[in-house]
Amino acid sequence: MSPDKIKSVSEPTLRRLPSYLHLLKRLDQQGRGIVSCTYISKDLKLDPTQVRKDLAATGIVGKPKIGYDVNNLIRSIESFLDWNNQTDAFLAGVGNLGRALMGYERFKDYGLNIVGVFDSDHEKIGTTVADRKILPIAKLPELARRMHINIGIITAPAEAAQIIADLMIEGGIIAIWNFAPTSIKVPDNVIVEKAHLYTSLAVLSHKLAEALANERSPEDEKGIANKLE
Ligand code: ATP
Repeated sequence: MSPDKIKSVSEPTLRRLPSYLHLLKRLDQQGRGIVSCTYISKDLKLDPTQVRKDLAATGIVGKPKIGYDVNNLIRSIESFLDWNNQTDAFLAGVGNLGRALMGYERFKDYGLNIVGVFDSDHEKIGTTVADRKILPIAKLPELARRMHINIGIITAPAEAAQIIADLMIEGGIIAIWNFAPTSIKVPDNVIVEKAHLYTSLAVLSHKLAEALANERSPEDEKGIANKLE
């Protein structure tokens, strides 16, 4: 992708691209190979002409009456967004979970690079964790704008999640990975990926309970019944 081509892309287009990517990855997971512009526009409640123009900006053109190859489109948008520093992220809330994510080197293999970390605790601000200096949360919007950061990671308690999300959005962040155990309200152009560990744990516990119940053989049940008598 040449820099000239990038320059001609409007900010609203750039802001919509992560939404397309989000949808396309979902379709890919469902095993869908081809997608039409109409499908994308309906799903994301956007004008089809707008969608076609946005996607063309990434360098890909759909085949008339057939649509787009989902994988090609994902690759095209991803390479376009990478060029634009898409994978640099800010993290807010340097508690135990935040520190664990900061120390997880493998994120770099997936293209995620945590370049700034923030907290509201005065005792933590100014100290260094995993080679990164903790900055005051109030500085997040300005720095995010200056560094063109697109990804925000929230690892603060539930009650702080919305305040942090608002600061991230103010800073132009358009993709939020929310580890706080609560939902956050964001404008339509901002993607939120929930990583609620409690929800996941609830599903795991329920499945485990089911698996253990099914594992019990009729003999076990008889044994239990005999013991109870
Ligand atoms: P620790 O005991 O080290 O604080 P923790 O995992 O028990 O760790 P949590 O209560 O989950 O801490 O909070 C996670 C982090 O989020 C803490 O460092 C806390 O200071 C920070 N935090 C809380 N509110 C905000 C906020 N509004 N903005 C930024 N960070 C916040």
